[in-house]
Amino acid sequence: MPKLDLVKWARIKSPWLLHFNTGACNGCDIEAVALLTPRYDVERFGVKLEPSPRHADVLLVTGAVTKQCLSRLKMIYQQMPSPKFVVAIGACACSGGIFKGCYGISERLDKIIPVDVYIPGCPPKPEAILQGVAKLLAKLEGSK
Ligand code: SF4
Repeated sequence: MPKLDLVKWARIKSPWLLHFNTGACNGCDIEAVALLTPRYDVERFGVKLEPSPRHADVLLVTGAVTKQCLSRLKMIYQQMPSPKFVVAIGACACSGGIFKGCYGISERLDKIIPVDVYIPGCPPKPEAILQGVAKLLAKLEGSK
């Protein structure tokens, strides 16, 4: 198997996720953390939570991007190795949600970094987050 195919195969078989709260109310975070509990058993898909951006494949973002978090978000994204992917979890990460236009909120997430999958909801259920990650993996599998 050529090296690039092997990397792609490994990424699809075991995506390592990094979770970053850019200003969420914690509703979406609780659902994302619930997904990682034994009840949903995402490890059967090879999904693993990775604390270091340098080893993560997928960035899970929750919340509208506050001005305070903006530089940290950019730094974390830059530190991730390419190819990297971003999943927006919840209405706030997708569009700003109820915090859109607030004085402490910067731009919409997809105006700051490229977003690959949007998971709407306030908050989305763990099943919806899992479906979003599965959609991303299907997208990767279909990509050349
Ligand atoms: S989408 Fe809803 S639950 Fe998620 S951070 Fe925004 S307000 Fe909170």
